[in-house]
Amino acid sequence: MRFPTLPIWSAKKRSVASVPKDKNKDRSQVRVGIPKVLNIWTTHQFWVGFLKSIGIESENIVFSSDTSEEQGREFGKGRGTVDCCYPVKAISGHYGELVFGQKKKINILLSPMIHSLPSVLHGHVVDTVTCTRVMAGPENIKAGFLKERDVFGEAGITYASPFVSLGDRHMVTEQLHTSLKDVFNLELEETERAVKAGFEALDSFTEKARKQSRDILTWCAKNQKPCILVLARPYHMDTGIGHEIEGDLQAHGYPILWLQYLPGDEDLMNWLFEADMQMGRIKSPFDISDVWMSSYSSNTNEIMWGAKVAARCPWITCVVRLSSYECGMDQPTYTPTQKIVEATGTLFFKFGDLDSTKPAGGIKIRIETIVHYLAKYSQKIMQQKLEWLSPNCPLGPLPAFAPPDAVQEGPAVAQQVHSSPS
Ligand code: SF4
Repeated sequence: MRFPTLPIWSAKKRSVASVPKDKNKDRSQVRVGIPKVLNIWTTHQFWVGFLKSIGIESENIVFSSDTSEEQGREFGKGRGTVDCCYPVKAISGHYGELVFGQKKKINILLSPMIHSLPSVLHGHVVDTVTCTRVMAGPENIKAGFLKERDVFGEAGITYASPFVSLGDRHMVTEQLHTSLKDVFNLELEETERAVKAGFEALDSFTEKARKQSRDILTWCAKNQKPCILVLARPYHMDTGIGHEIEGDLQAHGYPILWLQYLPGDEDLMNWLFEADMQMGRIKSPFDISDVWMSSYSSNTNEIMWGAKVAARCPWITCVVRLSSYECGMDQPTYTPTQKIVEATGTLFFKFGDLDSTKPAGGIKIRIETIVHYLAKYSQKIMQQKLEWLSPNCPLGPLPAFAPPDAVQEGPAVAQQVHSSPS
């Protein structure tokens, strides 16, 4: 049976008339606002590269601020959605900030409906689609700005919400040309060039971030020091969604790795998963079929894979799991991820049901608990995990373990590998 939702979304009409047609296609004065929400956190470079390629000036690409209660109160009040997870509900505040909160008005509000994501696991899993709430989020939130009157139209803003499968690159040019040609007065060829530029920008950023993560692991290996892996969805990098829990831990001297930017280098991954492949449990280091069969959802797949990496990687002695209130996608993953991580004695701490308010007191107590366990058990965990691996560590020769001591200062590269588009 034909499922008409996708064509309807792809052909969605914008809110008001498009940017005026210009023979020279001079778009240098066009200002585009992008709500910094959901999977924009790991795909922002694609949108920046795409827009710059079609002639939008860097200073005219505006991202909304990080999520905050104030943002929601000031700009999203009365436009919220009911019965949804916090990361989606919070989008109303981002839309409102872009519409009402700009000194220099935007012309276009670009809020893509991202259907699938680029992923290091692409080709090793069933699919890399996004959560349905993520995909439909822009439609859901837009309704709050149209229910009484067309707020975008009144503000002279064109609302554009292209449906796009960033995980299936061959589809992107056609999807974006269909949905944005009237918005930006785009030709097919320039859309093609812009898509290419977008992916180049995204790939280059991701590669750089993965390289930084590898540098952190190399430092840890050289100094036999532990680090922490954050298992979370991309938007937990938003300080108003993830509440900077990882920042508080980093302040105690523990380098932080984000799942989204774990190095997927062949040498390192083959070393970590060598035994599993020899036993025939998995076909490649990116195969998660041993722990997660229904591998359709991109972020869920990566969370399961990250748990497996953490369980094997000696210097990741602790996993911090973040999850938002009302997250339907995370519910079935809580027990498996915890069991995978703890199977090798790696520490596991979960902050579930994160919402708008930052429970500062509770977080502080839990941070102290985590730091205590890290200091007490990290050396033992590293030694044990190293014994299970071959001695040919691709991160370089490993020194002998020093007697337990206080946590040292972090490495020069031990900054949080973070993906802020601002
Ligand atoms: S993955 Fe969870 S938190 Fe994220 S949009 Fe979906 S239901 Fe909400």
